[in-house]
Amino acid sequence: MNNDALLRRSLAAVWHPCTQMKLHERLPLTPIRRAEGVWLEDFDGRRYLDAISSWWVNLFGHSHPRIMAALRDQLDTLDHVMLAGFTHEPVVALSEQLSALTGGALGHCFYASDGASAVEIALKMSAHFWRNSGRPEKHRFLSLAGSYHGETAGALAVTDIPLFRDAYAPLLRPGGVVPSPDSRLAAPGGNAIDMALTAARALERHLAEHHESIAALIVEPLVQCAAGMAMHDPEYLRRARALCDRYGVHLIADEIAVGCGRTGTFFAHEQAGITPDFLCLSKGLTGGVLPLSVTLTTDAVYAAFYDDSTARGFLHSHSYTGNPLACRAALATLALFETEDALAANQRLAARITAAAAPLAADPRLAHFRRAGMIWAFDARSDDPLFARRFHRAAMDRGLLLRPIGNTVYFMPPYILDDSQIELLIGGTRAALDATLG
Ligand SMILES: *Cc1c(COP(=O)(O)O)cnc(C)c1O
Repeated sequence: MNNDALLRRSLAAVWHPCTQMKLHERLPLTPIRRAEGVWLEDFDGRRYLDAISSWWVNLFGHSHPRIMAALRDQLDTLDHVMLAGFTHEPVVALSEQLSALTGGALGHCFYASDGASAVEIALKMSAHFWRNSGRPEKHRFLSLAGSYHGETAGALAVTDIPLFRDAYAPLLRPGGVVPSPDSRLAAPGGNAIDMALTAARALERHLAEHHESIAALIVEPLVQCAAGMAMHDPEYLRRARALCDRYGVHLIADEIAVGCGRTGTFFAHEQAGITPDFLCLSKGLTGGVLPLSVTLTTDAVYAAFYDDSTARGFLHSHSYTGNPLACRAALATLALFETEDALAANQRLAARITAAAAPLAADPRLAHFRRAGMIWAFDARSDDPLFARRFHRAAMDRGLLLRPIGNTVYFMPPYILDDSQIELLIGGTRAALDATLG
């Protein structure tokens, strides 16, 4: 097997995600043979530094020995069992540990296999909560401009990215959209807090008028990643929490991308000192090894479903709900946060990456250099509609996997870069910018 052979077979048989397949007539796929640590390796032995953690899922590097060992151990005992009517140690232990990480505030864990499903679960649970509570008219959802919550029909209805949404608009149930607190949108002379307050005032006006029909507000705490790493001040989340309380609306924290230490705290919402009513996790949860997602919620929500009536229960399921292998991978990942003291180690690593990136922050070809924990982003001043594609190619040619969103270049690396890898990340980025922007 070589790169070309696998590439041809893939294009003949596989429909790739988020891709206009015709583009691959000109832009080759990259077949990957193996992965270890921060490296992806192709069939010719070329290596690529996975600086976006394979779509934001990989936390501690590929094929981490401790996660692999946990999976091997689990394979010897229990591969899978349905979770309706049955239970098993990995799903119980994972639920207990996740709940403990919320300080016990979110003590009930409902599992699925991908992020979009975790969002669907939060939306359905919220609306069903209000129905069970005698408020069936509260079934609309409110989301932020530029939001991304996944691409199944319910999740897409609260997603505000026209490219993903427009073709399916007739299939989607419209909800409300309120302004984003994206700090880049601050008026001249204004700062991130001003922008948070401006957006919170717009949220207040919307809730004052429409709260009777709204079940929940869904947000991506601190960073709207798919919008192009739009970052906001935690003050927005404090205001949103207070407004949701005042108007009787649930707050859903979609931490599918920003959870698991990505923004510096284990959960992003911790930085605002708030607790959501629903918390969605997925991407990094298994360390990037197996598909798993979870929606956590409160005693109050759980209690509204607890009844002699079957129909008042949450009658939602996925075949692989709570898969033991995925839960073991998640448990091994949570253990790494302890044994590696990962949040503290990330602070030191982030300081080194930020220092190395100083030339980018000062580069006049770039704007809005920004960071939240282990996410860095900046916007290239370019009117080339093909900037993202050309930059990606130029970076790949230098052994670096980066995939800009529009003009936004971002780093979302695994939590394990060493100094030579930081050098490749920053040096490769500068070289790719030179090749793309001149
Ligand atoms: C990726 C993502 C999702 C969807 O997760 P999938 O596993 O791709 O379905 C939802 N919300 C956010 C914030 C995400 O980044």
